[in-house]
Amino acid sequence: MSEASPGVDPASYLQRLLDGGVLIATGVDGVYGRSAAFEDVVERLDALITRAGRNDGAEVLRFPPAITQRDFEMSGYLHSFPHLAGTVHSFCGDERAHREILRCVGEGEDWTAGQKIAGLVLTPAACYPVYPVMAKRGGLPGQGRLVDVYSYCFRREPSLDPTRLQLFRMREYVRLGTPEQCLEFRETWLERGQALIASLGLPLEIDVANDPFFGRAGEIMAENQRRQKLKFELLIPVADPARPTACLSFNYHSDHFGQVWDIRTPDGALGHTACVGFGMERITLALFKHHGLDPAAWPEAVRAALWSRDRTPAA
Ligand code: AMP
Ligand code: ZN
Repeated sequence: MSEASPGVDPASYLQRLLDGGVLIATGVDGVYGRSAAFEDVVERLDALITRAGRNDGAEVLRFPPAITQRDFEMSGYLHSFPHLAGTVHSFCGDERAHREILRCVGEGEDWTAGQKIAGLVLTPAACYPVYPVMAKRGGLPGQGRLVDVYSYCFRREPSLDPTRLQLFRMREYVRLGTPEQCLEFRETWLERGQALIASLGLPLEIDVANDPFFGRAGEIMAENQRRQKLKFELLIPVADPARPTACLSFNYHSDHFGQVWDIRTPDGALGHTACVGFGMERITLALFKHHGLDPAAWPEAVRAALWSRDRTPAA
């Protein structure tokens, strides 16, 4: 997907966002500051997603944007996406090593060679911290579990396409239970996701998708994922109208995480899992693209969907 597009250059939308002060350059592609207007939209979107799921009784959990090295290794991420992971390293040396670091920095040499892994890896998807936590609670109850998470995530994919960020936020609902419970959850969110995005006046399409698995073996994994329809995406044209951007993902992991963490249903079977992920920056960038850089001038229906307090009481 990184070849030059026959359509619009995504970098031109990035330039518009930077010129308009919506995003703020840091010097690294895919890492930007956000304006107050941008953050306001992200917050309202977050509230809208909460309203869409509020009758389901999800358990709200929030984690910092790093997972333990052990949980990361267990998750299997290194098998599939070694190229996207970001590890946290720190200085662990003595005063001599400190002097050496300062010398390297002063002379423009690499100072990072002595840095040691801090036992942490940046969270690659908001749902990753959930599975080990749920496993520690023991078996799943009969109705399974439903968790609401929201985190900054890191993926090393520098790009001039403003929708392809290295640090971005993902809001997720995560379902753990039987295959039926997971598939029903995914169906429900496929419907709700479309209704939510349509209420924001955005064009959308749903398609089967695959994750960007690494290497040759990855091509086979991607084919399997598509054939089994494990992943759907809600796509919106954003930076390049010819190549719509995945703004929501609907993932069914089958029993992958159940196996990894030995999560079981009451009858002793391996637990299955599914998640719906909302790319908060991507949806926000879609809104700025379709409705303009000034949210005050957005269509009344879109403003009402985002800014008016919900009038219907929770059932
Ligand atoms: P995934 O786990 O790849 O299905 O990602 C879940 C959602 O996060 C996607 O549907 C996107 O909306 C968003 N997302 C994934 N990668 C990026 C990225 N590099 N930049 C911004 N948003 C992303
Ligand atoms: Zn997930």
